[in-house]
Amino acid sequence: MKYFSTNKSILSVSLMEAVTKGLASDNGLFMPERIEEFDIEFFNGIHQMSFQEIAAEVANKFFGEDIPEHILENIVFDTLNFDCPVVKVSDSIYSLELFHGPTLAFKDVGARFMARLLGHFLQGYKKDVNVLVATSGDTGSAVANGFLDIPGIKVYVLYPKGLVSNIQEKQFTTLGKNIVALEIDGTFDDCQRLVKSAFMDAELNKAMVLTSANSINVARFLPQAFYYFNAYARLREAGVTGDLVFSVPSGNFGNLTAGLFAKYMGLPVKRFIAANNENDVVYQYLKTGKYEPRASVATIANAMDVGAPSNFARILELYNQSHGDICTDMVGYRYSDDEIRETMKAVYESENYMLDPHGAVGYRALKADLQPGEVGVFLETAHPAKFTETVESVLGEGTVTLPEKLEEFMKGQKLSIEISSDFDDFKGFLLKQ
Ligand SMILES: *Cc1c(COP(=O)(O)O)cnc(C)c1O
Repeated sequence: MKYFSTNKSILSVSLMEAVTKGLASDNGLFMPERIEEFDIEFFNGIHQMSFQEIAAEVANKFFGEDIPEHILENIVFDTLNFDCPVVKVSDSIYSLELFHGPTLAFKDVGARFMARLLGHFLQGYKKDVNVLVATSGDTGSAVANGFLDIPGIKVYVLYPKGLVSNIQEKQFTTLGKNIVALEIDGTFDDCQRLVKSAFMDAELNKAMVLTSANSINVARFLPQAFYYFNAYARLREAGVTGDLVFSVPSGNFGNLTAGLFAKYMGLPVKRFIAANNENDVVYQYLKTGKYEPRASVATIANAMDVGAPSNFARILELYNQSHGDICTDMVGYRYSDDEIRETMKAVYESENYMLDPHGAVGYRALKADLQPGEVGVFLETAHPAKFTETVESVLGEGTVTLPEKLEEFMKGQKLSIEISSDFDDFKGFLLKQ
């Protein structure tokens, strides 16, 4: 299968090139040139299949032309060594818990899948491939853990000193092996600038193979379609009926875009809800038809603090730029920090379910939008313990218990290397590796 760029000024590329490049050379995002539909038999039997079995079928629709079936199946089963349950929260509202992976956030699925796919493509490749990733917290942990122990790949995680939470820092600085954590004396923007400059530096690119693992990569975002199919299967399995509505707490809109792909593949979804915090450019677009990216503002659902959602170009492409068509499949809601806190508290008290700040945005939008006869699923994108401080400030001290996986990280020894935010220092460091 070929992949084309949303900017349409380059020729289509192979899957391997799309995965190793990440961003197209004309700065567009890669899109598969076809989206294959499932036939009715698949849906008839889906409730009897496991998450892993469903994911293998979905992966085959995307990548089956490029990767032998048994290898792809191994990649999927190795990626998904955890479950993705659907939990009833209140009347007709279900939580799709995406936080049972190693770093307790949904980005584990994409990061682990991409690492294994890239590992497959690099077999027999003579040089190490170096993945550079700048993080403000969550992406770094998912990528570092996803790529841990993948032969032939070395990962450099750049993070701003003193600006990530203790739990987040432990998740990518304690791994060692092929994961190098670089503590940058600067901000997240400095980290991003260093990574961008490295990709543009001719000398560095001659000396070593560099690539990125950010969320625009097709190998990171397409696998997120797996969990929408799984949600449908698990509801069917439980005998739940009604028109299906998904509410997706969104930042860069990778997750939601993967849901739209699932719908194009035939998954019966009535509509998607784009749930935003105060970073509401897509909400405004849905209302007015005008897309006006702007600087992000900080909120308590900080993994969604995005002012220029990178996957928006993919949504426009899927719907031929038609605002009207986008609005038939998608509605938008936005909530302030106070509204997010209010929702976390109310759902904890009346339903005995603990939401993290991101899931709370999804829940609230679903509650506001769901009509009689519909069944709603919101994506619970992170475990509340990843945001213990915020959650306990709302629900009370001692309400959050750290899952075992996080406890293990907390015991680890921090192994980062401190460097300045000066590009020459960073470049010098990489050239010495
Ligand atoms: C990354 C992230 C999001 C936003 O997902 P997008 O695909 O960027 O829209 C939501 N919640 C959590 C916890 C995240 O880490």
